[in-house]
Amino acid sequence: MYQALTKHLFPGDHDEHGAIILAGVCVSDRGLRLVARELHLAVDGIDYVPGKYGYRMLKAQFIQSRILRARDLKLAYLAIHNHGGTTSVAFSPDDMASHERGYPALLDIARGMPVGALVFTGAAVAGDLWLPGGRRAALASAAVIGNKRLELFPQPPAAASRNPDYDRQSRLFGDRGQALLGGTRVGIIGLGGAGSILAELLGRLGVSEFVLADPDKAEMTNLPRLIAALRSDASPPAWLPARVREFLRKYKVDMAFRNIKRANSRAKITALPRDFLDADVAAQFKDCDYLFLAADTMGARLLFNAIVNQYGIPGVQVGAKIPVNQAGEVGDVFCVTRSVRPGHGCLWCNGLINPARLQDEAVPDAIKKGYAYLDDPGVAAPSVVTMNAIACAHAADDFLFHMTGLKNDDAETAWLRWNSRKNRVSYDVPRKDADCLECSAADHSRLGRGDHFALPVRPR
Ligand SMILES: [Zn+2]
Ligand SMILES: [Zn+2]
Repeated sequence: MYQALTKHLFPGDHDEHGAIILAGVCVSDRGLRLVARELHLAVDGIDYVPGKYGYRMLKAQFIQSRILRARDLKLAYLAIHNHGGTTSVAFSPDDMASHERGYPALLDIARGMPVGALVFTGAAVAGDLWLPGGRRAALASAAVIGNKRLELFPQPPAAASRNPDYDRQSRLFGDRGQALLGGTRVGIIGLGGAGSILAELLGRLGVSEFVLADPDKAEMTNLPRLIAALRSDASPPAWLPARVREFLRKYKVDMAFRNIKRANSRAKITALPRDFLDADVAAQFKDCDYLFLAADTMGARLLFNAIVNQYGIPGVQVGAKIPVNQAGEVGDVFCVTRSVRPGHGCLWCNGLINPARLQDEAVPDAIKKGYAYLDDPGVAAPSVVTMNAIACAHAADDFLFHMTGLKNDDAETAWLRWNSRKNRVSYDVPRKDADCLECSAADHSRLGRGDHFALPVRPR
């Protein structure tokens, strides 16, 4: 979308051009964030014409159909034009006067949705947002989520201060990159074998805000895979009464909390010993900068995939598969890292969310006990720390190069698959279903819809 917009605004004629973006709304503890969903380019001379007051303006008919669509789909309306200049931009007095003439009426039509304007140069953006109830706000920053993350501001941000603790890695991505990681909020879903490695790696990198969810406590059989786990986390002293031992047994999120704090004592961590699928838990992930899915249920995949697309958050799914049949024969052993970018082909349109298994997970455990199904004979699946580590290291590395803007522009979007028995790396290129109701911009799709669209959370 950003490529299409910049091509339209800056065709090389140094003139002014116009467009409209409709965007989902996300309100969280961090404030208001708008998630671009649709770009409507104004054709010069037809939709974008000489202005009555200023130089150019969007034609009333062009505005009207878009503001009605914003009202109906519950999206914010943003009128866009460009100025000359590079790293700084601001609205002109003519621009501001036109907002004051036009936006009160647009706010009325929008029925509760924000309206406003963005003005771009090649490397900066400013925004004037009009909110219901008469409040008005300036845009702080904008992020473009592609292979790499690009942040745009109205003026160049102040130089980042140096933190000598991170000297060796800041030599790779600079003080600004380190400061960026320090301001990043990541969500990790599942803090078992894979999630505990992600927490360790991201904590060491200097990421400073975490949202963690996992309802489980540690068991002795987890210890070979949980980073820096103690025997006492899973098995408190035997002489204690059983009830006390159960109370002392640690939640996996609390063990991850401890590890992150060891790496970075300033980290701010929301540790939720709860199921990701509960509506209030899922809501904690909607304003993260990056999501890591390390829990392997179909319900978690569906919800993760939904948050990525609905809230425009890049994410990655990690997992390992070690098939062993009843006779003890080991099949193809592999681990995967699947990065999911909003609008770029998702877990749903790549057949990775199995509706039959999804339905099965919705059946309460008490009823489920009566029967077993094909690929889950009730036996714990094999799992080893090394394969989790391969998938997680790749996922954290992908995150690092994405966030710090070090990915090449033409970096391939491919899903890593490492086969430990064959010694073979392969890449699966994700498909994108043009009509996918999750990741396409089809009329009733989830993409960029923000708070005004239902998430597939568990009814309580
Ligand atoms: Zn202007
Ligand atoms: Zn899709």
